[in-house]
Amino acid sequence: MNDVKLAVLGSEGTGKSALTVRFLTKRFIGEYASNFESIYNKHLCLEGKQLNLEIYDPCSQPQKAKFSLTSELHWADGFVIVYDISDRSSFSFAKALIYRIREPQTSHCKRVVESAVLLVGNKQDLCHVREVGWKEGQKLALDNRCQFCELSAAEQSLEVEMMFIRIIKDVLTN
Ligand code: GDP
Repeated sequence: MNDVKLAVLGSEGTGKSALTVRFLTKRFIGEYASNFESIYNKHLCLEGKQLNLEIYDPCSQPQKAKFSLTSELHWADGFVIVYDISDRSSFSFAKALIYRIREPQTSHCKRVVESAVLLVGNKQDLCHVREVGWKEGQKLALDNRCQFCELSAAEQSLEVEMMFIRIIKDVLTN
């Protein structure tokens, strides 16, 4: 059985827990107590392969987190970096995370630098108050060898599922 470890990273309130819980339960949970970190386990069969998937959803308050960013980067095989399209500061945070992953001097590990990364612009249902353009997200992803999508954890169950399948496939072929 293949093990796939994904870390879902991004600033507080971008919808990391909502995306993870949506994928695991197909439900949107409006308010989620995210002041603790969780590793979720899911068995799935993808293209005839049995997989043991672990998804790390970090604590929103870094001071309470047991994992440091460096250990998150070394633990995971692939990353889902989430920003909120209606919050520009969350895009800057996502950018900094991507640079941290792709920058050999800071991550000190070829495996991290070359890992599969999917950049996700969440809360697409809030596009009437959008602060980050689709093209900006796509450019950041393209410039840094990442996949990209925009979606809404609140409204799109299938798209969230496809997004996770996409990063899992990338990890397996990486
Ligand atoms: P986290 O801190 O990144 O884990 O973010 P949460 O999953 O706790 O979500 C933060 C807030 O954003 C909550 O109030 C969620 O209901 C809300 N939220 C998450 N995803 C979406 C979305 O796709 N659209 C909208 N409108 N709100 C969302």
